[in-house]
Amino acid sequence: MRLTTRARRAISKCLRPLARRAAGAYVAGEHLEDALEVADRLTDRGLGVTLGFWDGEEDSPRHIADTYLAGVKALAGRDHAYLSIKVPSLKFSEDLLAEVVGQAARSEVRLHFDALGPEVSDRSRALFDRLLDRGVDLSYTLPGRWMRSIEDAAWAAGRGFVVRVVKGQWADPADPRRDLRTGFLQVIDALAGRARHVAVASHDVPLVTEAVNRLRAAGTSCEMELLYGLPMRESLALADELKLGVHVYVPYGKAYLPYALAHMQSNPRIAWWLLRDMLKSRGSRKHTDARQRELVTR
Ligand SMILES: Cc1cc2nc3c(=O)[nH]c(=O)nc-3n(C[C@H](O)[C@H](O)[C@H](O)COP(=O)(O)OP(=O)(O)OC[C@H]3O[C@@H](n4cnc5c(N)ncnc54)[C@H](O)[C@@H]3O)c2cc1C
Repeated sequence: MRLTTRARRAISKCLRPLARRAAGAYVAGEHLEDALEVADRLTDRGLGVTLGFWDGEEDSPRHIADTYLAGVKALAGRDHAYLSIKVPSLKFSEDLLAEVVGQAARSEVRLHFDALGPEVSDRSRALFDRLLDRGVDLSYTLPGRWMRSIEDAAWAAGRGFVVRVVKGQWADPADPRRDLRTGFLQVIDALAGRARHVAVASHDVPLVTEAVNRLRAAGTSCEMELLYGLPMRESLALADELKLGVHVYVPYGKAYLPYALAHMQSNPRIAWWLLRDMLKSRGSRKHTDARQRELVTR
């Protein structure tokens, strides 16, 4: 069933309190130490990690850059670990980014650009391009739901950096109804046989299976990436079956409300799952924490 814009807005308004509460389930905690604790448990299970600081509106670019610097230092010397960053949160400051990139190069930690709204994608790509010769390992996210990602895939393959493909939280204004799975596989096809390495980042098991088959058939190495806070059991079983390496994105900092809202708007069933979980737990945070621990340990 397709929802009109007005219906989506109404759903969004009704879901806001639920989303505010639910957003908390997507972060490991407020501090780097919380994320590192989760990372240690994931590492013990043989899983790679990426840490991502989710900033709040009141965080200054200087504070965010300092948090990224602390993240880079904490990941130095750690195998299969890298840092995800959001360059619009730094207000695209080349000075701040130069500090983070410099530290990442010295610490030999990979830096990954998360994808944000389509309105910032040109600036993000241009900035990324300018950093490619700074001696740091850089990687980039391509949302399958944006038409431009097919051309961006050719750019990424040509430059030879690692790409993460996601469905994407923000719609493409040029084609807002673009099918998420079709778009995802079109980007995979654009990377297959051309890209250096692809992280297939989705909890949608049939979609990941198809993407991995296409990449492998074209001789392109790949792995699975999962997001802490979303169900992982079936995905991890698939990774075992396909002998696929796995990284888990561990967000920390502020519960990112836009994330939860965009996620619920694109799939209102999630609101029901969350409501059900909250009712079962009678709203207790303790229960959420226990559920998360279970997710990363089973
Ligand atoms: C590693 C990683 C990095 C990402 N980075 C970015 C980024 O930089 N930019 C960006 O725009 N987006 C990013 N995303 C988010 C992505 O765009 C999607 O919004 C998100 O992954 C949801 O799509 P999906 O295919 O994983 O799962 P969905 O198709 O939404 O869900 C798959 C299945 O998971 C189950 N499920 C999902 N949610 C719940 C729930 N709350 N409770 C119970 N069951 C549930 C259901 O069984 C569902 O069928 C990232 C995602 C991952 C995994």
